[in-house]
Amino acid sequence: MKLVIVGGVAAGASLAARARRLDERAEIIVLERGHHVSFANCGLPYHIGEVITDRSRLLVQTPESLREALDLDVRTAHEVTAIDRVAKTVTVRRVDDGTEYTESYDELALTPGAEAIRPPIPGIDLPGVHVLRRMGDMDAIKARLDGLLSAAAAGERGPVRAVVIGAGYIGLEMAENLRHRGAEVDVIELADQILPPLDHELSVPVESHLRSRGAGVHLETGAAALRETVSGLDVELTNHTVLHADLVILSAGVRPNTELARKAGLELGPHGGIAVDTHMRTSDPHIWAAGDSVETPGTVLPGTALAPLAGPANRQARVAAENICGRDTEYRSTQGTSIVKVFDMVAGGTGATQRQLRAAGIPHRAVHVHPSGHAGYYPGTAMMHLKIVFDPHTGRLLGGQVAGFDGVDKRLDVLATAVRMGMTVFDLEELELAYAPPFGSAKDPINMAGFVAANVVRGDLELWYAEDYPAAVEGARIIDVRTPEEYGIWHLPGAENVPLASLRTVCGDWDTATPIRLYCAVGFRSYLAYRALRQRGFTDLKTLSGGSTTFRAWHELDDVDAAAQRPPIENYAESHSLFALAPTGVGASIDLDCTGLACPGPIMKLAEAAAAASAGDEITVHVSDPGFATDAPAWVKRNGHELVSLEPEGPGYVAVIRKGGAGSMASARPVAGASVSGPGKNSFVVFSGDLDKVLAAFIIANGALAMGEQVSMFFTFWGLNALRRERPPRRQKKLMDRMFSVMMPSGANDLPLSTMNLAGMGPVMITNVMKQHKVPSLPELIASAHAGGARLIGCTMTMDLLGIAPSDLLDGVELGGVATFLGEASESTTTLFI
Ligand code: FAD
Repeated sequence: MKLVIVGGVAAGASLAARARRLDERAEIIVLERGHHVSFANCGLPYHIGEVITDRSRLLVQTPESLREALDLDVRTAHEVTAIDRVAKTVTVRRVDDGTEYTESYDELALTPGAEAIRPPIPGIDLPGVHVLRRMGDMDAIKARLDGLLSAAAAGERGPVRAVVIGAGYIGLEMAENLRHRGAEVDVIELADQILPPLDHELSVPVESHLRSRGAGVHLETGAAALRETVSGLDVELTNHTVLHADLVILSAGVRPNTELARKAGLELGPHGGIAVDTHMRTSDPHIWAAGDSVETPGTVLPGTALAPLAGPANRQARVAAENICGRDTEYRSTQGTSIVKVFDMVAGGTGATQRQLRAAGIPHRAVHVHPSGHAGYYPGTAMMHLKIVFDPHTGRLLGGQVAGFDGVDKRLDVLATAVRMGMTVFDLEELELAYAPPFGSAKDPINMAGFVAANVVRGDLELWYAEDYPAAVEGARIIDVRTPEEYGIWHLPGAENVPLASLRTVCGDWDTATPIRLYCAVGFRSYLAYRALRQRGFTDLKTLSGGSTTFRAWHELDDVDAAAQRPPIENYAESHSLFALAPTGVGASIDLDCTGLACPGPIMKLAEAAAAASAGDEITVHVSDPGFATDAPAWVKRNGHELVSLEPEGPGYVAVIRKGGAGSMASARPVAGASVSGPGKNSFVVFSGDLDKVLAAFIIANGALAMGEQVSMFFTFWGLNALRRERPPRRQKKLMDRMFSVMMPSGANDLPLSTMNLAGMGPVMITNVMKQHKVPSLPELIASAHAGGARLIGCTMTMDLLGIAPSDLLDGVELGGVATFLGEASESTTTLFI
């Protein structure tokens, strides 16, 4: 058999190698019009960025190595210009001298790949405009960049400026690598998001990261014209802005190379690629095709599609070779699994996106989760954004997308496997995945997505979506179950703040028929709230998929705030000389590591550190939660401090915050829209000894302290049990006191739940859940409130009645009576009875 292959890179080289392994006697000729075969085109951007320093490492094979290892006849600089299907010959042109010859074949394989789309824009063919497909393109871009950077380093010119047209995978890889070399980069994109193959909300965190690394991003903007200038090129945008560029990279997509096939009368598919059957055979029984030039059936979506990706190209080539060599192998489908690194972030997807499902009219549901890449307490992790789409009835997984920092690739690959195997969200719940703290969590993000999606399919959870806001909350009560600090920094207009810990108590008199739309930061606390309300008879309940984290990807917070038309929050530092900022550099430097902590952890820690600091001290805080970039300025402003700097660092940020004021922290009431007039004081009567109620009291107390307010807590009757020591010093007790001490909970760890106590199982479960989600335990909350300056007052009358001695109570608890409490309450702006 004589096999002729047109194109010798990904698919061509794979096809030739597989054919040789199956047929030792075949004559195999590879005709490649370029000067290199089997090179790593996916590595090209990284050599420009000098991440891959050795150019030769990109040349995976050479004609000589392929001859030696596989006895292949590889002819570079040989272009096939025509196919004669009747004579079974191809016309070959020697690129270097233009001479032509004819080569016969028994079987012909077309793997000509794709070519860059050059939109019909004036100036698109100017020499400074580069595409990146081949080694030669890479060499030209690198030579130009090296020259410009050397001149800049020698002071002969200013900074090097590059414009990247197109924010797809290759465009973003180029943006990163150009930035890496020190160029100033602007990325322009016609769509309203970067990474068009992903759903909008997954692209937004990557876009923020791209901007944070210094790249300019211009969305819904095209290049209107390119003009040569004395020093480079002017790129005129469709919005009439003109960007000056020394280098323009055109990465506006690719189209399949089908000219040969078309001229030979081979059938093309609806998307313009070469039509093939599942054996990779074209409409001619002796001509096969594989790679970027073909269209293949989708794994999830109906019909065929183009998928210019290296994995499918290689697998299609293998299938074609097997069938050429007499085997019966099928290429069933392409699901479009893809991934990209953008600076420290990674993003990708597999299967169908929600946008594609909608366009195809396929019924589906979506869930969003935001777990850490690995255990939060092990260094080096950050929040991940994971979305899956699935059949609402069967739960079959239709697609998944992930964006984040650590562990994105493995989650994508698990999802890709699940999509390929037709697995359901119930299967995702069950998957047993590798876990140790540096790699994941005992409940892997894939399991978490499975749990949430399975809840939706089973009817245990109903979601509302940020994308549908504000219609999704119309006519409903919006309940924000986050902490007062989180609520204070930002909340949805009209939302009521009912922290989860107090929800069960507060909802007692709510009308169960009123529509309620819940939300929290990522969707977990609102899910707990949802279940609590559902079981109390609430009928029209929905919780926000992915919480405020997903919401922020859909809506500019400023727009939402503007919609609420809330009055501006006055800053203490501006209105009270008492809180005037201390002069620069007079204070101590404090280093605070909040990496691995999810919201509100960093803000709580920052508040603690600020409370302990003196005016003028500078706190350098390291955070891996990207939401900190929005939260920190708001918190700083509300508390009268100064944000000295906020810089990207790894997955998150490093911020320097200078404490304002003359010792006492400024505060704001945790209700957006309220203008601030002075530091508040809060009094609590903690009467209840129920774990959930005491937790609520301490969460609110800590929140108030974090906002710079004063807190005084009076513990009476059953509430006093929360302050009891677990192991008090032994002492003589009267019979009645002994009986009480046996019957009553011995401290914060022993309190029952107000409902669902389940003979003590409820508190254990809630404590474990809190631990997993890094919510501090009750003893930790008590300690933090005390350390933050809260007065914890034990009611002496209760102590007498129940036979509690001062030595039975925690260190630092003051003793007092009703008068003490009333004194505190009279000075307070808020008094709560819990
Ligand atoms: P190609 O590898 O492009 O090979 C086609 C060859 O055919 C070319 O060398 C061409 O010169 C030759 N040819 C065309 N017409 C003729 C003719 N008439 N006669 C002779 N020879 C001809 N994919 C991923 O999955 N992940 C990535 O990270 C990734 N990164 C990429 C980065 C870059 C910069 C580029 C350019 C591509 C990247 N891709 C990536 C895409 C991937 O490289 C392609 O999907 C894959 O190479 C397709 O293989 P192919 O054989 O069909 O085409």
